[in-house]
Amino acid sequence: MTSPNPPNRIDYLRISLIDRCNFQCVYCMPEGADLQYALKEHWLTHDEILQLLREVFIPLGFTRFRLTGGEPLLRPGIVELVRAIAQLPQTEDLAITTNGFLLADLAQPLYEAGLRRINISLDSLNAETFQQIIGGRGRSRWQDVWRGIQTAHKVGFSPLKLNVVVIPGINDHEVLDLAALSIEQEWHVRFIEFMPIGNDTLFGSKGWIDSESIRAQIRDRWGIKTSSIKGNGPADVFQITGAKGTIGFISQMSECFCDRCNRMRLSADGLLRPCLLNENGQIDLRTSLRNGIPLSKIREQVAVLVNEKPEINFKMRESGVTGAYSRTMSQIGG
Ligand code: SAM
Ligand code: SF4
Repeated sequence: MTSPNPPNRIDYLRISLIDRCNFQCVYCMPEGADLQYALKEHWLTHDEILQLLREVFIPLGFTRFRLTGGEPLLRPGIVELVRAIAQLPQTEDLAITTNGFLLADLAQPLYEAGLRRINISLDSLNAETFQQIIGGRGRSRWQDVWRGIQTAHKVGFSPLKLNVVVIPGINDHEVLDLAALSIEQEWHVRFIEFMPIGNDTLFGSKGWIDSESIRAQIRDRWGIKTSSIKGNGPADVFQITGAKGTIGFISQMSECFCDRCNRMRLSADGLLRPCLLNENGQIDLRTSLRNGIPLSKIREQVAVLVNEKPEINFKMRESGVTGAYSRTMSQIGG
């Protein structure tokens, strides 16, 4: 069976730098999580990541990279790694997705290292609700994250995107307050549908909210129009009337966008997978590298996976958005 649509150009690699995190968000990690983290010695080293980019991904046409995790700012030497990737002549786009907790200190060095695009998770404007979402006891970390966002803004990151996962009964009452952050500043607030990956218990008890009902609330309050500002990814982008920024909707539950998907994912321990929800076909680049498999051979294996991706996507679309996965978003690299 072949895909009915011409395949997308697959040129975007999401690189997870670490599978550990300093938060334990209720939607991302299973309750009482005793996750099996990758051994540190299995993390791809900076040199291995750069070697894979130079010798494998860039020659295959990849030019856009996003660093993620777990929490990528926990990765030792993150600033140097950012600098090295930003300096590769073929890098057209380099971005990071972070929970923002360490950003107040790191925003300036990361900017100076060449990073320009940043996505920060912010699921609530209320310190208590925020703490409830990210787990952990003691002082709320909301202030630290907010300080990180303000610093990133001052330093000049653009676009600055704020990711919100909306969970019924937890933060859905804040949708309008969060959307309002896009009015005064050129900030891009993106609502992500909650996926049953990470915490099945929470998903089973709370369910999820579809993008259209969030959009309807915002439309009723202010009016919205389709935005001409588009990102690289799957978000549908709108603008509140008169706003400087945008609101985006990532609707992977209500609308399967597998046929628009242009990305591959590299985990911290070197597994390359063609799809977030599907482990089929993944290849172990770390073992290949460390066993001395020639880079030309690794490139061939990756090229096969890249060519098969539209077919894998098509099968995913046909079967609905459910797949075989044994890792959480923090482990795969969300
Ligand atoms: N730690 C960083 C952060 O939180 O931004 C980067 C990694 S995190 C896994 C990347 C993104 O995945 C975050 O925006 C997070 O909200 C999202 N995410 C995690 N679990 C999710 C789930 N079950 N459904 C939808 N989005 C999820
Ligand atoms: Fe939360 Fe990101 Fe950490 Fe998952 S990886 S627990 S979404 S901060």
